[in-house]
Formats: sequence, structure tokens, C-alpha cells
Amino acid sequence: MSTLITDGSRTYAAEAAGLVRPRDAREVRDVLARARRTGTGVCIRGGGWNQGGLTLADGAVQIDTGALDRILDIDVEARTARVQAGVTWDSLREALDPLGLSPRVTQSYGVFTVGGSVSINAHGRNIDTGVLAATVLSLRVVLADGEIVTADREREPDVFRLVLGGLGLVGVLLDVTIELTGNHEYRKSRVAVMPTGEYPRTLREVTAAATAEPAESPVHFHYARLAVTPSELWEKLLCVDYRLNPGGRSREPVRSEPLSRTDLLKQRGLFLGCTYSSWMRERRFGWEVQHRARMETVRRNNVAKESIQALSIPRKGSGYWLQEFFLPAHRITEFLDAGREVLRAERFQLLNTTMRFVPRNTDAFLSYATEDRVAAVVYFRQPLDGAAIARTVHVMRALLDCALDVGGTYYLSYHRYAAPEQLRRAYPAIDDFFRYKAKLDPEFTFRNQFWTHYAEADGDFARCAPDGAEWNAW
Ligand SMILES: Cc1cc2nc3c(=O)[nH]c(=O)nc-3n(C[C@H](O)[C@H](O)[C@H](O)COP(=O)(O)OP(=O)(O)OC[C@H]3O[C@@H](n4cnc5c(N)ncnc54)[C@H](O)[C@@H]3O)c2cc1C
Repeated sequence: MSTLITDGSRTYAAEAAGLVRPRDAREVRDVLARARRTGTGVCIRGGGWNQGGLTLADGAVQIDTGALDRILDIDVEARTARVQAGVTWDSLREALDPLGLSPRVTQSYGVFTVGGSVSINAHGRNIDTGVLAATVLSLRVVLADGEIVTADREREPDVFRLVLGGLGLVGVLLDVTIELTGNHEYRKSRVAVMPTGEYPRTLREVTAAATAEPAESPVHFHYARLAVTPSELWEKLLCVDYRLNPGGRSREPVRSEPLSRTDLLKQRGLFLGCTYSSWMRERRFGWEVQHRARMETVRRNNVAKESIQALSIPRKGSGYWLQEFFLPAHRITEFLDAGREVLRAERFQLLNTTMRFVPRNTDAFLSYATEDRVAAVVYFRQPLDGAAIARTVHVMRALLDCALDVGGTYYLSYHRYAAPEQLRRAYPAIDDFFRYKAKLDPEFTFRNQFWTHYAEADGDFARCAPDGAEWNAW
């Protein structure tokens, strides 16, 4: 009997042949052995929050990593943690907090699993570190043939690079060793509203401050929120910085929910109101400034967090979708100017746009930060009917063209609206990635809708079939 499964998009679905929850490496290998024997595909789910069908494949068995939820080791001296793939950031931070430690990369939401975040190569608001891949020291993965490989930058470096941001297409990640840092104290040091034209200069100052000596209290966390009402669309933004407070002594336990009950209700009300009322949308930016202007001193384990509960609003016939574009830091204004035209011409209503800085890192094979980039995340309500989705695909493709034209790219965690040629422009190494995946997984056991959409359905895959001669050439 098959089971209908979906992901964070509530749009994509698949008929899974079965759902399994392995508890250890042996059980993962058993699942894979059975899959090979029966010719069944396998897809992998962490928290299931992605919005691109990455955890779904028709006719496949879905491995849910929820039972791989143990923290295996925390080395306080070396400041490292070895955790199973199904551990969430919230539970890791809870374990690290009493030890005065914190992950070096912190996402704003703690519900994602470490395995899901590594497989997408997530990034946070911390500008001192950037992408998660930069902080992964080693990992263990079960390949399609059942072999368990320990990979890092020296041992099996090819497997290492492919698994980081590998979208669950290379193997089942068992556990990961990541770098930690102190659970330092930070103080919110700036809440400023400025025209978007001034942002590149501000960003240059902020990133220079990120590398300053600790004694000078560098900025480690930074984000910006843009105005999204039609009259001021992407014309101005609110920018927030957090500076390290060396020697800070505040005591503040880690919280998985960053908002008080009152603030949570207010945020939900604001969010719902802005979804349906133009009057509220017009006032939203001012309210945001008020809400974020509160000065605070906060520990790293709580810094710059957002509330997933504020977004968890029951909805009928619609979903809340995200898209993210990575833009060369010096060309953000060009993207915003061109993108504004697209959104205005299409009368496309955004609920939010956030920007973050992502320093260059090429540890992952499919890196989205081949140079210093700014991530622009757009968030909107999506009616789940065919015509509305087709319109969104049209708008998002046009926005992606704006990003590609300035040398940018996009995040593969979200919807697969990109046309195949756009994917290939954004990720010129994608066909090599498919080829190397095929080398490690010749039966194509690991599958998801990204794979079937871009590698198979395009009919292009024959072009990049396994080619042994090139295997070690990168
Ligand atoms: C509201 C919201 C806010 C977000 N904010 C951020 C943000 O601040 N920064 C950011 O970078 N991203 C952000 N994301 C994206 C998010 O980080 C990714 O979707 C992430 O993958 C979610 O983790 P997950 O555990 O739910 O993974 P899943 O959705 O379950 O899986 C994601 C991918 O990882 C693979 N995978 C999962 N576990 C394993 C494993 N053990 N072995 C091999 N492959 C595996 C899956 O097959 C899939 O391809 C956000 C998403 C949402 C919905």
C-alpha cells in the first residue's frame, strides 16, 4: 500500500512505497539492501521543511531520520560536537548551553535537523562564519551500495564535497562533526532605517567590522528587512547588527521559542493582517521597526532567532512560500532595481524580504557562494491553485533572471520553478554533480523530485551519464 507524503511546500506530493525510521547504521544498510534487491528508490527526510520536493519521490521508500537523534560527543576542549543527522538545532543548543558553547553557524529557526541543513548547506545570520559547510569537520555517510564512508577534507574529499549540499542524492548521512564556539554575549548595536541605495556601503562597513579584533567588539550577526508595500517596494530597509560583548556576564538560558506569548500573538496577528489587509501592509514596516528597535543583550544561542510558531498559522487552500537569491555583494542594488520593476509590473505582493551576508565558501560541490554574496529571501502567500502557481512561476523566473544577470544564483531548498537552462546558468557544475552522483549510485537508488525533474525528465541525463575518466578530475 502506498502513502501520500508531502513537504514544507504543501504543494508537492508523492506516493511513497513505504516509510521507515532506522535507528542506527545497520538499519539504514538493511533498508538500502532491500531497496537494491527490489529495485525501489529511496528518498530521505530530516525535518521535512524544504519546499522543493527534495524529500519526495514516487514509488520510493522514505527514510525518516527522526530516530537518529543522539548527540554522540561534545568535546569542550576542542569545541566540536559529533551528532546524528536527525538531531535538531534546538536540541543541540539545549545540550551545548550549560557547557557555555554554541554552534558556529546558527539558523534563525531551530526546528531543522543537522542532516537536512548539511544536505542543503544552510546558512545563518552570522556573518563571521557564513555557510554551514565551512564548519563541518567530518561526516559519515552510507552510500547506495551499503558502504559506510567517513569523509572530510583529506579522506574521501570527493564524497565530502558532494554530500555537503548534496540534496539527499548521494547517501544517507549518519552523523556529522561540526565546529562550536563560545556561547558569547552580544548586544544589539544598530537598528537603522536607510534607503536601499546606501546598503552596499553599510554592508562593507559591517563586514569589515566582522573581522576586527575581538577587543574592538566586532559585528557577528547582521540582517536587513526591506519595505515591501507597493509604494515603497524595496526602496528602504531596516538593518540590524549585533556586536560581540567581550566579557559579558549575562545569564540567559537557551530558548527554542524566541517570543513571549504576547509578542507571539502580536506577530501572528500582524502576519495574518498583512496577508489580507492592504491597510496593515502599509503600516507593517513602521511596526517592524518598532518591534526590532528594542535594544537587547543576548547570548549567542538565542541571538537573531525568529519564531517558527509565528509562521505556523492554519491555512486553507494556500501556503507560505519562500525563494532565495544569492547576489554578488557589490551588485545588490542592480538586482533590487530590476526586481522591483518585475514585481510592480506583475502586481506581485510580497509579505517579507530579508537580506543576509554570505561570505565566500566553496566547500560544497554545488556552492552558491563562489564569491561574497548577499542572500535576499522573499516570502509570500501562495494560493494553491494551478493558475496562481503558474503566475508565481512566471514571476519567480523573471526575478531569477534578474539575479542571474548580475552574476547571482538561487537556493535549491525552495521551489523548483527554475527552468532547466536557468538551473544550469545558476549552477554550471550541475551536470557534473549528476554525473558524480551516478558514479556513486549507478542504480539511482537515491531519488527525489529535484532529481526526476532536472536530471531525468529533461531527457538530458544521457548526456551526462557516468564517465570514469573524469571521476577524479575535480
Ligand atoms: C520558514 C523557513 C525558514 C528557513 N530559514 C532558513 C535559514 O535561515 N537559512 C537557511 O539556510 N535555510 C533556511 N531554510 C531552509 C532550511 O534550512 C532547509 O529547508 C533545511 O533543509 C530544512 O531542514 P530539514 O531538517 O527540514 O530538512 P529536510 O527538508 O527534511 O531535507 C532537506 C534535504 O536534506 C536531505 N536530507 C535530510 N536528512 C538527510 C540525511 N540524514 N542524509 C542525507 N540527506 C538528508 C533531504 O533528502 C533533502 O534533500 C528555511 C526554511 C523554512 C521553511
